Formats: sequence, C-alpha cells, structure tokens
Amino acid sequence: MNNIVCIREVGLRDGLQLIRSQLATSTKAEWISQQVKSGFGEMEVTSFVPAHILPQFFDATEVLSMASCLDGLCPSVLVPNLRGGKLALGAGAKKINFVISVSESHNQANVRCTTEKSFQMLKELITESKEEQNVSVTGALSTSFGCSIEGDIKQRKVVHFAERMARLGVHEINLADTVGYANPLSVKSIFTDIQSAVGGIPLAAHFHDTMGLGLANIFAAFEVGVTRFDSCLGGLGGCPFAPGASGNVNTEDTVGMFNSMGIDTGVDIEKLIEVRRLLETWLPKEKLGGNLIKTF
Ligand code: ZN
Repeated sequence: MNNIVCIREVGLRDGLQLIRSQLATSTKAEWISQQVKSGFGEMEVTSFVPAHILPQFFDATEVLSMASCLDGLCPSVLVPNLRGGKLALGAGAKKINFVISVSESHNQANVRCTTEKSFQMLKELITESKEEQNVSVTGALSTSFGCSIEGDIKQRKVVHFAERMARLGVHEINLADTVGYANPLSVKSIFTDIQSAVGGIPLAAHFHDTMGLGLANIFAAFEVGVTRFDSCLGGLGGCPFAPGASGNVNTEDTVGMFNSMGIDTGVDIEKLIEVRRLLETWLPKEKLGGNLIKTF
C-alpha cells in the first residue's frame, strides 16, 4: 500500500458552482490561504467559464493570481474548452483540468459540444501549454461511472477515452463520478483497467457522495494504487447538468479516514476543522455535511 495520499480540495470550484450564495473574492482568498495553512498542497481554486453561465467564477483570474502567490500550493483550475484553457494559460495557470464527459449527452449539456470536438480542443490546449513553462494538463473524464442522462456508461468506453487522453500527452487522468453512481467494485475494476491501459500516468479520483459511498469508493481506489483524491470541505458540490448529483465526498471525513489508518495526508485535522467552521460563517445559507465535524 502507499503511505502518502494527496487530497485535492475542490470546494472553491465544484463546491461553489451550484450554490446561490456568492462568495466575495476576498473570502475565497481567505479560504484558500487558511486551507493551505492546514497542510493542503493542491486546491482547485476556480473555473475559467463565461460569467453568464457560472457567475460564481467571475473573478477567476484574480483568484488564480492570488493563489499562485501562496507558498506550498499548486493551484489548479478547471476549463471546459480551448477558450477557457487559453484564458487560464494567460492568467498564469500551472495546472489545468480539461473536462470531457464520457457520456456524449452530458458533454453536450455540460460543455456544449461533441466529445470529438472536446478532444480536438484538448489536443490544441496541450500544444499551447508546451509554450509555457511547467504547465501540466489533467484530462478529467466526467460521468466515468454513469450518467444521469444516458444511464450506464460502458467501462470500455471510459478506458478508450483515457487511452486517447494519454496519447495526447496529459500529465494526469482524473476519473469523475459526476453523479455519484460508482461503487467500490466498479471503482476497482475501472481503475485497474485504466492503469494497465495508460501505463505510468498518475490517476486521480473524484467522487460524489450521492449514495453515501464516497469514502468507500476512495478506499477502493486507494487499494488499487490511486493516491490522488478530490473532495470538498463540508461536502459542498454538485453538477448543474447532472440532476440529483449531491455534494462531493467530504474533505474532513476523507482526511479523518486516512488519519485513522495511519496514512499520511500532510493535513493538520484540527486546523482543517477551523477552516470548516469558517466556511459555515461564510456560507450561512448552505447546508454543509460531514460526520467528523460532529466529534469536534
Ligand atoms: Zn464533481
């Protein structure tokens, strides 16, 4: 088993995109800074999408530039297309998550183009990113474990998409259970298949807790060698085009689970709980979840 896992906070992106409350830029800055102090080395801090689609991210450039100044943090950003990718590069992004849904219908709903078009744009983004120094591009595969529009997603299609991303030269592949349909067996099966298909490219996992299986799925992925996990403080999150998708797997609970097994996450849980308490004051109208918090 691996000794060290990396938990990547995605609350500022996935967590904020569905909620009605608008966080001020200065509050986002405070959130990032406090969570870095608790030991987080990676946070997805924003998304480069048009503000009329997701107004929460109107300040993407500013948030990224602030996050880029913090010692010890690798801020990542999500982009839905080449335009967003170019904006992110222009703003100095060093880690860019380019999202493609395995489900054709979800891709159309989420990023408004065919998956073929998305792959073309990913290829161009990787070419452009090579002109900058030290930029890594992650291929994020949404709906890898099922889709609220198309239902079942064939595992061989997910593997095929991952292979295409690997051939294009992505630095990491992130399998997202966008709606929360994964279970521990499907997680083990798909990650094992993809590992043998793409060789040494690091894999990451992004689970939603719709069915209450988030932590079980994380542990299942960990057991087959995955060490990079997305999660959201307070279990915020969802997908505007995946009806019924509940929050992301909870960050505090994820850290707590690994801590209880003696597996290092690099996170100081006491400090992380303080950030979670702050989040409650920043988002008083949002219902936050989690179990570990009840013991503090
Ligand atoms: Zn998500």
